[in-house]
Amino acid sequence: MRRLEGKVALITGAARGIGLSFAEAYLREGARVVLADIDHDRAQQEARRLGVGALAVALDVTRQDSIDAAISEASEAFGPIDILINNAAIFTAAPIVEIERADTARVFDINVNGTLFMMQAVAKHMIANGRRGAIINMASQAGRRGEPLVAVYCASKAAVISLTQSAGLNLISHGINVNAIAPGVVDGEHWEGVDAFFAKHEGKAPGQKKREVGEAVPFGRMGTADDLTGMAIFLASDEAEYIVAQTYNVDGGNWMS
Ligand code: NAD
Repeated sequence: MRRLEGKVALITGAARGIGLSFAEAYLREGARVVLADIDHDRAQQEARRLGVGALAVALDVTRQDSIDAAISEASEAFGPIDILINNAAIFTAAPIVEIERADTARVFDINVNGTLFMMQAVAKHMIANGRRGAIINMASQAGRRGEPLVAVYCASKAAVISLTQSAGLNLISHGINVNAIAPGVVDGEHWEGVDAFFAKHEGKAPGQKKREVGEAVPFGRMGTADDLTGMAIFLASDEAEYIVAQTYNVDGGNWMS
């Protein structure tokens, strides 16, 4: 039996990368999926490629009017939302002495406030529709420990883990399970920028940082988006009903090292 049959899932940041892989996996499990992204053109292209059961909606998680419109559009098309994945985020890196206030505000507005106010809006929607639901927040190994050049992103993901604990404990009384996934390093387009940053700040050759990071993972390689989909399906399914306010590492053993 398909594990998400009949469910409706809204996935933020699903135009590419991990969010898009989650959308594909959820479709295979019988869900209808809403690809909600600030890059609406790309989300639309992907939704067309995925076909029946996929819809793209425009979303900027930093704007309340956009959040409300995305939820309305999604539920008008597919019916009440059962699953939210708060996946949209941006990465930033800088030595402490070069961090800029405006950059920090932007990261926190997307990664932290975006997660919080998406949870709030979808929880209100689920409560109004009298349905149990699942919310999955994308944390990171970066939220478990500091990294020398990644302070702001690390702090934002630590905040996502903390929000997951509080929101999970609060919303379970409404039948809404809030949990999080903390990936390690996952291959994808964003690595182009990450690699360029480390090439500049650590004098690495192009591709060197990525290779080193992959080799340091106890499993023996970097993760892929597909490595995460099993956990994302499980946490969204009815089998995970008794799991509340947890953050699960899916990282090839990396964060233990
Ligand atoms: P990505 O950069 O490839 O994709 C992020 C998506 O979010 C993009 O499609 C982008 O358009 C969208 N987005 C950005 N700002 C937005 C906004 N304001 N409103 C709506 N959408 C917006 O990211 P990814 O590598 O696939 O990572 C997905 C999630 O997993 C993120 O939360 C990330 O922090 C987390 N994560 C990634 C890794 C990794 O190594 N890739 C590791 C740990 C955690």
